[in-house]
Amino acid sequence: MIVYFIGTGGSEGIPVHLCSCPTCSEARKFGFTQRKPSTLAVIGENGEIILFDVGTDIREHLNAPLNAIFLTHWHHDHIYGIYKLRWTAMETKLYAPKGHADALILNDPKNLKPEIIEPWKEIRIGRISVTALKLNHQIETFGYYIEEDGKGIALLYDTKGLPQETWEFLAEKAPIRLAIVDATYPPGFEDPYHNNVDEAANIGIKIAERTILSHISHKNLPFLQLVRYVKGRWGNKVLVAYDGMVFYV
Ligand SMILES: [Zn+2]
Ligand SMILES: [Zn+2]
Ligand SMILES: [Zn+2]
Repeated sequence: MIVYFIGTGGSEGIPVHLCSCPTCSEARKFGFTQRKPSTLAVIGENGEIILFDVGTDIREHLNAPLNAIFLTHWHHDHIYGIYKLRWTAMETKLYAPKGHADALILNDPKNLKPEIIEPWKEIRIGRISVTALKLNHQIETFGYYIEEDGKGIALLYDTKGLPQETWEFLAEKAPIRLAIVDATYPPGFEDPYHNNVDEAANIGIKIAERTILSHISHKNLPFLQLVRYVKGRWGNKVLVAYDGMVFYV
């Protein structure tokens, strides 16, 4: 599988309009440190394309038929792009949790075919299986366990830690190839709904060979400083996501 990180930011994206914090200032200097809200594609060995969250308009990044779209939750930074994408010329299945579902998208989905799903249910898309996991967030939120040919990826945002049932599910599969984990905030920052960098890395290294930190806010360390911190602590086991990053599993 190929994992394509189209958007790796928190709700606000980086740089934030008119913000002069170190992270946003750096992002005006170096384009590669800019971040769009969460949008991720997984491309299977047979070419299936599955989109996880649509935090941005995807047309410039992924202009191809989608075999399915999965939403982690209905916070706006994970669904903006759907308002446009629903005009897609190809009927496309949209799987999502029930909590706080967006009425406009459910009542007028145009060419999307929404289906509310339950955690722990496995859905097959070609040769890829996708299982919804429970996460800890303000509203009902799913992580996803994605597997093809015995190779597993855990997508774990938005969350603070993991519920016990999700730990148990992932412990049975461990070590999986890749964990992609919510690392919204800088080391030492406490928030009830999102991890900081250390919390995120510690989740990943318990279950996966490699961890990629994503859903990164402008309140986090500037990109270059963050990369230095993460590499210094965890070497190549933990990486910092960036928009446009591609990872082969
Ligand atoms: Zn979010
Ligand atoms: Zn800022
Ligand atoms: Zn959220």
